[in-house]
Amino acid sequence: MLVFKRLLCASPVLGAGEDTIIIMIMLAFIKCLLCAEHRCKRWGRYRAAPTFGFLLDVDGVLVRGHRVIPAASAAFRRLADRRGRLRAPVVFVTNAGNCRRHDRARELSGLLGLEVSPEQVVLSHSPLRLLSRFHERRVLVSGQGPVAENARSLGFRDVVTVDELRLAFPLLDTVDLERRPKATVGTPAVVLLGEPVRWETSLQLILDVLLSHGSPGGVPDATPYPHLPVLACNTDLLWMAEAGTPRFGHGTFLLCLESIYRKVTGRELIYEALAGKPSLLTYRYAQHVIQQQARARGWHAPIRSLYAVGDNPMSDVYGANLFHRSLRPGVPGDAETCEAILVRTGVFGPRTASDRPFHGPRDFPDDPGLARAAHVVRDVDEAVRLVLRKEGWETD
Ligand SMILES: [Mg+2]
Repeated sequence: MLVFKRLLCASPVLGAGEDTIIIMIMLAFIKCLLCAEHRCKRWGRYRAAPTFGFLLDVDGVLVRGHRVIPAASAAFRRLADRRGRLRAPVVFVTNAGNCRRHDRARELSGLLGLEVSPEQVVLSHSPLRLLSRFHERRVLVSGQGPVAENARSLGFRDVVTVDELRLAFPLLDTVDLERRPKATVGTPAVVLLGEPVRWETSLQLILDVLLSHGSPGGVPDATPYPHLPVLACNTDLLWMAEAGTPRFGHGTFLLCLESIYRKVTGRELIYEALAGKPSLLTYRYAQHVIQQQARARGWHAPIRSLYAVGDNPMSDVYGANLFHRSLRPGVPGDAETCEAILVRTGVFGPRTASDRPFHGPRDFPDDPGLARAAHVVRDVDEAVRLVLRKEGWETD
């Protein structure tokens, strides 16, 4: 009080003894302090560096086909600061793969109304850039869209598409009767980026390449086994687009290929690597991208908690739980937890039965615990609110 009085008495405006005015100013000052305390409680460590990040699925969580889910817009308004920048690192981890990363980023930017950089997008095949031991080999790539461009952007230098193989060996494809001269196309590895348009042609030619050990058109003496390395991305059996019920995913195509290979050879198809959710390779890569995002924003606090929000129990939830089990607390670069949050706006809908059969990839164990989410919420906005409350960033 005395200090205030002395300060104010020094003012040319106020004269000495104006205690009433001083008391009013002090009351206003105390009110400001109380308001500031309230804001701190409400926003918690608003200005502190985040120690958590989001791994957001796209289809069935943020969009259905090319239509944004309204809750996604609300979630990003909640996550953005006054300048429209995200307050915590976010990586979009999608099992889509028949597209370019920068195209997907541009589409998400338009739909969500915020700037999404290509570096924030992890497609199903993105982790293949880590498998440099295959990059110098000639590879047969299967999928649709810009498959050759995608394969080259991942580091593969010598790429042959199924269409090029079909044209080089027209006798192999009984669907297309067009005849072209044969060419020698040795393919020491097969990369399955996503579901192709013409399944029968791709299934036939991929099988030819595997059975001939990369020299289709010849007649092999015996079935080579183990066969050429096969790298497969996106093992989702189903996914959610605009239709009311789920659509076939690349996992269904892989199921066909596995079944045909087993029926023809009596042996199991071997995957050298699986990328896309629920594979650990994808989650390790996504964690690396989250840390890059945080550093780029100048946030140097370690990311301790990851929240994976998805609509597919067999990929989003299963993968997040599998990754959580693999985390090594205390090891630099590893988070401490990865929590799965399941939303009801996609493959898992409001009326989805909880006792569905195992839809996971062949090489992953049928462990019901892995498909059980830590939280089940209505939509992505509710998921973001849940996380912000858990992290003490919002209290209401
Ligand atoms: Mg999804």
